[in-house]
Amino acid sequence: MAAIAGTQAKIDRLGRYLATLEEADLRRACAYLTGAAFPAGDPRRLQVGWVAIAEVLTEITGTTQEDLHRVYLAHGDLGATAAALFHEHPPAPSLFPRPLTLEAVDGAFGAIAAAQGPASRRTKQSVLRSLLRDAAPLEAKFLVKILTSDLRIGFREGLLLPAIAQAFGRDADAVRQAALLVADPGEVAARARAGTLDGVTLTSGSPFRFMLAGSIATLDEAFAQDAAPLLVEDKYDGIRVQVHRNAGRLVIYSRTLDDVTRAYPELQAPLEGLARDYILDGEIVAWRGDRPLPFGQLQRRLGRLTPGPLAQEIPVVLMAFDLLRLDGGELLQHPLEARRSAMTGLAWDESVRLSRAAPARTPAEAEARFREAREAGHEGIVLKSPQSPYQPGRRGRLWLKWKPGLGTLDVVVVAAEYGHGKRARVLSDYTFAVRAAQGLVTIGKAYSGLTDDEIARLTAWFLAHTVEDLGRVRTVEPRIVLEVAFDKIMVSGRHTSGFALRFPRIVRLRDDKPPEEINTLDDVRELYRKTSGAAPRERRGKERPSGA
Ligand code: AMP
Repeated sequence: MAAIAGTQAKIDRLGRYLATLEEADLRRACAYLTGAAFPAGDPRRLQVGWVAIAEVLTEITGTTQEDLHRVYLAHGDLGATAAALFHEHPPAPSLFPRPLTLEAVDGAFGAIAAAQGPASRRTKQSVLRSLLRDAAPLEAKFLVKILTSDLRIGFREGLLLPAIAQAFGRDADAVRQAALLVADPGEVAARARAGTLDGVTLTSGSPFRFMLAGSIATLDEAFAQDAAPLLVEDKYDGIRVQVHRNAGRLVIYSRTLDDVTRAYPELQAPLEGLARDYILDGEIVAWRGDRPLPFGQLQRRLGRLTPGPLAQEIPVVLMAFDLLRLDGGELLQHPLEARRSAMTGLAWDESVRLSRAAPARTPAEAEARFREAREAGHEGIVLKSPQSPYQPGRRGRLWLKWKPGLGTLDVVVVAAEYGHGKRARVLSDYTFAVRAAQGLVTIGKAYSGLTDDEIARLTAWFLAHTVEDLGRVRTVEPRIVLEVAFDKIMVSGRHTSGFALRFPRIVRLRDDKPPEEINTLDDVRELYRKTSGAAPRERRGKERPSGA
């Protein structure tokens, strides 16, 4: 694929390949092509670290950790490093070499994920060893990229979905539409193959892309289009989840579409009592008594498979704000009003609640609702059009978010630098970027706002995910998402976006948000236009491809 020039030629080639696969392999190929070891929504995790993989690589190629680091510095990612090591020092083939089929890879990934408990590292490494031993250098490269989830993001929308359409002679829009309702591209491909794309609906147990809110710079803007009352809800500061319940099976999916059910055992019983069969959308919030706890508290529970004692220390509630399926009936196209009235009939309780919502006719009424929301401890408000359908995967004008402060942007860190004084030994200064058509473009640098713990954790991560070591500064894999606040957006030649932020500070780490969902250069232009009253000059920044 990399050797083929031109998007259409790549799509054609990939389409021809996909067309040759039977269903199980088609599903596997779609997952691997998007850099995932398992289909979206599959609860299994490889849980094999960088160091464990590096050990296996040096062992089977008969090299040292120093050799590996030398090669790594030249290549910047572990996949390319594996390929180079395999070229220079081909591993001795195993006694009974096996061809590396998709099925064999699936088996190995399954065994790696299944290894749990104290001896699991050894087991994982031994599976990995036999998988890699039979791999050619190029195969090793991509296996390692999947193991370290290091493939380029954006492949899914840009190449895979059109290639699926091509492979099975389907309409590209129909495929894209289906992919919003069914997040797993393998499932989309299987349906494209079977000719059942038209019938795609939300499916219980199969996650879909969340509907997202657009930003506004003033409350007036929300009411500018039509004067109809808007539904104003509290904006909860937690993590977005969708809950699927069907035939006694209950699954909670995170914003990254991971199955996080086990992380919130206290929600299990109330969610089971809510209704028999439903899909709902909402936010899990840390909560004590009648007030939310700061996001930082909830953050301590993120990334854990089960909460342990933190379940008592940091209690959570689920604030539900949408209902997409109830008792077999799909509600996506029903107006929000109707979806909310369907929600009022459910069996809510203390820890699974219906979000607070009230109509506002004017910016002043919305402002009053905003003050109430802040007094109750929430982040801000979300204004929603009562007639709107639920649009999976869209960030539109049907939902608008409003929080205090001039503005915040969700950005991804592309470079990290050693700090000064007591931060001289940690990577504490971060250059960050937004997404543009061609890739990531930088917009600012910030060094304040995170705790020492967070900085220590990020330093370790950046050291392990350095793309290029330039001494004081390291270019890093673009995967750490931050929310940054600032006072003003300025036109500036200092960064590749053509803009800079005045007084940027980190509001928080957004572990919950995938880099695909950060703000775009268009968002920045729009914010600039609204806050400065001027149209920015078109600047052609040097756009750096994502994942470079
Ligand atoms: P942001 O994370 O700043 O892009 O804001 C959008 C997020 O606010 C959504 O993805 C939800 O996770 C969250 N949110 C909190 N309360 C609500 C609500 N009442 N309606 C919709 N989204 C909400």
